This record gives sequence, C-alpha cells and structure tokens, in this order.
Amino acid sequence: MDSIESNSKHLCELHFVFIPLMAPGHLLPMVDMAKLLGRRNVKVTIVTTPLNSIQFQDTIDREVQNGSQIQIQLFQFPNVEAGIPKGCESVDTLPSVDLIPNFPIALSMLHKPLEELCEKLSPLPSCIICDKHIPCVAEIANKFKIPRILFDGTNCFHLLCNHNLLISKVHEGVSREEKFIVPGLPHRIELQKSQLPGLLNPGANQKSNAFREKVRACEQNAYGIVVNSFEELEGEYVKEYQRVSGRKVWCVGPVSLSNKGILDKAQRGKRKNTNDESQYMKWLDSWPTRSVIYVCFGSLNNATPEQLIEIGLGLEATKRPFIWVIRGAYRRDEIEKWLIEDGFEERVKGRGILIKGWAPQVLILSHRAIGAFLTHCGWNSTLEGICAGVPLVTYPLFGEQFYNEKVVVQVVENGVSLGAESVVHLGEEEKSCVQVKRENVRDAIEKVMGEGEEQEKIRERARKLAHMAKKAPEEGGSSYINMSRLIEDIIHVTW
Ligand code: UDP
Repeated sequence: MDSIESNSKHLCELHFVFIPLMAPGHLLPMVDMAKLLGRRNVKVTIVTTPLNSIQFQDTIDREVQNGSQIQIQLFQFPNVEAGIPKGCESVDTLPSVDLIPNFPIALSMLHKPLEELCEKLSPLPSCIICDKHIPCVAEIANKFKIPRILFDGTNCFHLLCNHNLLISKVHEGVSREEKFIVPGLPHRIELQKSQLPGLLNPGANQKSNAFREKVRACEQNAYGIVVNSFEELEGEYVKEYQRVSGRKVWCVGPVSLSNKGILDKAQRGKRKNTNDESQYMKWLDSWPTRSVIYVCFGSLNNATPEQLIEIGLGLEATKRPFIWVIRGAYRRDEIEKWLIEDGFEERVKGRGILIKGWAPQVLILSHRAIGAFLTHCGWNSTLEGICAGVPLVTYPLFGEQFYNEKVVVQVVENGVSLGAESVVHLGEEEKSCVQVKRENVRDAIEKVMGEGEEQEKIRERARKLAHMAKKAPEEGGSSYINMSRLIEDIIHVTW
C-alpha cells in the first residue's frame, strides 16, 4: 500500500463528510473525529442543523484558525412535521421522553434535505461518515456512488456481542432473568436478556423496534465502520469482530482527546449562556489529589427519582467530596423537591456540588482532584473516564450500557459494578424499580477509593490504561495509524 505522504496530491482532493445523529453521545464524538481528520490535511464538512451547530461552532473556528479545512453545512430539522416542538433539534432537548419515538420520524424525513445538500457540496464527497441511526444516507451514498462509513457510537466488544448473539440466538431460549454466556468471546461474559440492548431485548414501543430493524438493514452494504475505541483496550475484540463480520473496521479513538486546550474541553457540547465552568475548577482546586467522586449519567439521564435518591444518599454516606450532575433528570421536579425539602443540598453543602445544567465533563475529569467516576456507562463517558485514569463505578441504564459495564469490570478491570440488573428502555421508566441501594453506592465507592491492596491495584490499572489511551491517537499510535489507513483506503477506492 502507498504511504500516505506519497499520496499528498490526492490528500488535498479528499473530502470527508460527517453526518452525526442529533444527540450529544453521537454528535460530540463525531465532531471530535472530524477535527482529528481535518488535522490530517483533508477537507472535512460536518452536516447538521442550526441548533446543533451552536455546540461546536467555536471549536471548529479554532481548528480553521490552526489550518484545518473544516466547515459546517446546515440543513433545517423537520421538527414540527415530525411532531417535535419548535426549538428541539436533538434527543436530549426533547421536553419529555414520550417524544423520543418521534425522533426517528424526523430522521426518516432527512432524505431530501441531505441529498440536496450533498449534491451542492464542492468537491463532491469522497466519503460519507454517517451515524448508523440515519439510515436514509445509504440511498444517498448509493445514488452518488460515494463510500459510506458507519459510526455507531460504541466499541468492538458491543459489535461482537451483538453479532454473535444475532447468529447464535442463545438469548432467545432463556427467560429474561436467566444468565447465559455470550458465545465466541475472548472472555467468559455472562449476561441476562434483561440487560441486552433493544435490538436483542425489544421494548414495548413498536415504532422504536421497527426503526432498529431498519437501521440494521441499512448497515449491510456500508464500506466499513469507524469506532471510537483503541486497539490496546480491546484488541482481541477488534480482530474477532473483523474476522466474523468481514467488515473493514478502523479504531481511531479515544476521540475526546482531540480536545487539548482548556477552551475546547470547557465548551465541548455546551450550548450558549449556560454555567460558568471556572467555578467548578476553583472548587476542585481546593481538594486533595484523587479525592473527589464525579457522578454523571450522560446526556439523557433516565434514572427515576426514587433511584436517584438512593444514589444521593449513598454519596452522602461516603463522606467524600463529590460533583453530581443531575441535569435533565427524569421527573425532574420530584428530584428537585427532594434535594431541597429533604435537606440533602443543605447537608452536603461545601463537600458536594450539584450541576443542574450541562457539565463540562471532559474538563472536570481532567482535574487532578477527581478520584473516581460513577457513570451510566455511556460509551463516551466510559472512554473519557478511562482517559482520566480514574477507576469507574458502573451503573448502566439503557442501550448497550450493560456491555460497556462488562468491558470495565471484566475486560480491563478498572472499575466495579453497582449491581444493576436490567435496562430501562427510554420511555419505559415507569416500569422500572430501584435497582441500586444506597449501601451499594457507598460500598462500591470504597472499593475503588478506599485504602487497601485491591483498591490500589484497581487504581494502578486505571492509571496504566489512561497512559495507553493517551498514546493511541498521538502520531505513531495505533489510532493515528488506523486513521492513516482509513484515508489511504478512501484514496484507493476513489482513484
Ligand atoms: N456530557 C457532558 N456534559 C453533561 C452530560 C454529558 O459533557 O452534562 C458529554 C459526555 O462527556 C459524553 C457525552 O456527553 O461525551 C455523553 O455520551 P455518553 O455516550 O457517555 O452517554 P449518552 O448521553 O449517549 O447516554
């Protein structure tokens, strides 16, 4: 294969187009990835809607100032036509989880605007990197004969588990709570059906289930898949997934490491006029190294108030300092009421900070005072915790998050589980019960932050993993090389 340098003439003619899903857990890593690619002397366009672009316009402007050829192209989101209120252009800004099934309706209306936009792009895209949840892009790419690469927001562990379960169907012959071993994996991974993602464990919403099937069908003829992961983390899973799927796979992460400066970290995903992040950093400055627990359940946070109360009481019982992000909580009024009327806020004053808006997560995690991350195991958060070199305490909620918990607890062993048993599908929160008690929270945090040989071992593993994570996207690192391979592959299919 030609080296990327000898293809420099072709490099400047390449045009990568990114089409992210409108949800922070998908949009933010794709913007990070677009920035990394833009730094490799190729032209990059990110296609999104006006309100979504606000979150990353500033960081893209900085990339342009630093010499990248990267631009944003906008299209109008069909919110009103899809029954989504005006002003909502992303899943996390929907006023209610009941509206989540309307989101795929809006996505299915994107064919025309995206096709028109792609046609106008100059030069025509050499490659479209598209979130797999926007299936209409498959037809657009076919029409213009452009290679389409999927982004699915997770890791090869997840891809391999899904692939092996869809083929073996072992989960179909067991009851919801019965444990089974996922076949064909490098580790002995035990799960129960109630912990599987919606594709293998469908919820009650038929529209969402049908949408998942459509997404799956459109994956079939994609040119390959880009993964926000790195080979040192899950090399055996990467190889095995490539082998069984026959797909091209490029692991190019952890992409959040593209945010090196304070501004990039502080503004990542932030919409204008929200919290002033320097207050959190000043507060963190006042605590000893590795003493503070950071708690965040991602951009959607569908834990019930009853469950959040147990988590809050568990945090209180640790007697350790903490930052708890409770933004967008499900039945938010009830949790707000509890925080104040039950006296929680008052009792933890001084040693606990509650962030009710958007948290600058990557910035907070980079502070030396953070000693553990209690996470819902969204894949971005999991990787961001890994990059921070802190042990994780895992509380998966929905989607593929129970798989991610297994990566943490069994594959790389940099964390402990709170012991949740079942996914809570988005929109089905009412059916869920309290899965984790305050004692579980207190004990799990002691297992990663307390004194002792086991605790020290887990912290050491977390530090080593962070070291490997940081090297991967650096020049010469595995993810850097994989991104070169991706560019070369596109040069070869294009010329
Ligand atoms: N995030 C953040 N501040 C918040 C909530 C989330 O910066 O208050 C970011 C977080 O750093 C991560 C993304 O949003 O990059 C959430 O993705 P993840 O896969 O962890 O979870 P999801 O939100 O998709 O469930």
